[in-house]
Amino acid sequence: MSDEFDVIVVGAGMAGSAAAIRLAQAGASVLLLERGAEPGAKNLSGGILWGDDLARVLPRWRDEMPVERHLVRKRFGLLAPERALSFDFEDAAWRRPPYVAHTVLRARTDAWLAGQAEAAGATVVPGVPVERLAWEGSRVVGVVQGGETMRAPVTIVADGANSRLTLGTPIRPSPRLGEGTTELGVKEVYRLDAARIEERFQLAPGEAHAEEWVLGIYPPGVMAGGFLYTNRETISLGVIVRVSSLFGGQTYAHDLVETFKQHPTIQRSIAGGELVEYGAKLISSGWASRPAAFHGDGWMVAGDAAGFVFSNGLVIQGMNYAVRTGLEAAEAALAARAAHDPSAARLAEYDRRLASTGVLADFREFAGMDRIKWNPRFYTFYPRFATELFGGLMGASGGPKEHLRRTLRKAQRAAGLGTGTMLRDGLEMVREL
Ligand SMILES: Cc1cc2nc3c(=O)[nH]c(=O)nc-3n(C[C@H](O)[C@H](O)[C@H](O)COP(=O)(O)OP(=O)(O)OC[C@H]3O[C@@H](n4cnc5c(N)ncnc54)[C@H](O)[C@@H]3O)c2cc1C
Repeated sequence: MSDEFDVIVVGAGMAGSAAAIRLAQAGASVLLLERGAEPGAKNLSGGILWGDDLARVLPRWRDEMPVERHLVRKRFGLLAPERALSFDFEDAAWRRPPYVAHTVLRARTDAWLAGQAEAAGATVVPGVPVERLAWEGSRVVGVVQGGETMRAPVTIVADGANSRLTLGTPIRPSPRLGEGTTELGVKEVYRLDAARIEERFQLAPGEAHAEEWVLGIYPPGVMAGGFLYTNRETISLGVIVRVSSLFGGQTYAHDLVETFKQHPTIQRSIAGGELVEYGAKLISSGWASRPAAFHGDGWMVAGDAAGFVFSNGLVIQGMNYAVRTGLEAAEAALAARAAHDPSAARLAEYDRRLASTGVLADFREFAGMDRIKWNPRFYTFYPRFATELFGGLMGASGGPKEHLRRTLRKAQRAAGLGTGTMLRDGLEMVREL
């Protein structure tokens, strides 16, 4: 049976569309399949798109893509019940083009990106939930949907975090999600007019403010972070939780955002807003740090499907890696097409590119960050300790001031943190970094 396309790409997220654009621009015949009724319909991000990876295929993307605002300030903080401790990072350069990052809403950006793939010549077909890869022995020859096989020498799998298509490949040998590494993002979007957003967050038109919070507002053991990003006329707000930290407890995913948005600090930020959208999505970080190959005979895996989501507690970056890995997969597919050779040996070019562009190093070198980040004491105990300490240092009771050591001990007692434990955590951090 002859091949209908040079390359089939599964998933019209950022990875799949970026790959399809590059392939079509280079003259390859490419089929981009998306299960959603429209590209973007099934996608969800916080979301801040960092960097300029899209410029490799769309030099004018900043002017043409429907982004929300450009980022000028990042707030990082700790939330304890009733209390918040935070600091802001600002850089004057962030206010000048080319901007470092933009807030985006995926329904808009992904539809636009898939449109760019189509304009470049790709065949984009939404409403197609690909069932599985079509295997002939150890070689992938296309995809199967509705009992029909669509064939191509190379298939790029970009079907996102809970990738069904990579099942049985070294990327995801078992159907179980990465035990400790799977996170769930729950997000809500509130409509608020642009002028109120700008006044509330001290922004000029077009500018965005973003917040990341370590959430010490849940029962001990629940490990979660919160985010709040300003869009053009909406605010995106949500919680990312380590799924395994909910096991066996009484806290449910749907309670998390409720508790987060009722915190007085967060409540003020969304006051007067109207809930217009909500959703939940898995994030599978941690996979990419494993020493697996991201290709085989006739196939490559890009974006979230391969676990390329970087998160160090201060930022979550997956969209930029999705674009970058999608583009590198496209380059390897083009080289295979030129050589009439879609074998694993030829597609190893993809892994070489992931190495030479620093993608693999980003994940491998920061693997220790995951171990630090998932210390349960950083959620609950440290936010309580830090807010108690700062509260103690700033108050005035009318009597003599308390000695710093006493304030420190009081904060430790309030948080239930012993000095030995704090020293051990500090040492662990230094070791892992
Ligand atoms: C709550 C939350 C907040 C986040 N915040 C940020 C942020 O601020 N910044 C950032 O950079 N990243 C963020 N991320 C991560 C980011 O969203 C992902 O890394 C990024 O979307 C990955 O892109 P992708 O193209 O690989 O996958 P996806 O965007 O998931 O796209 C996969 C596509 O494949 C389609 N698909 C799936 N299965 C099939 C199938 N069988 N057949 C056909 N199509 C299929 C899906 O419908 C989807 O369109 C966040 C994620 C979450 C959940």
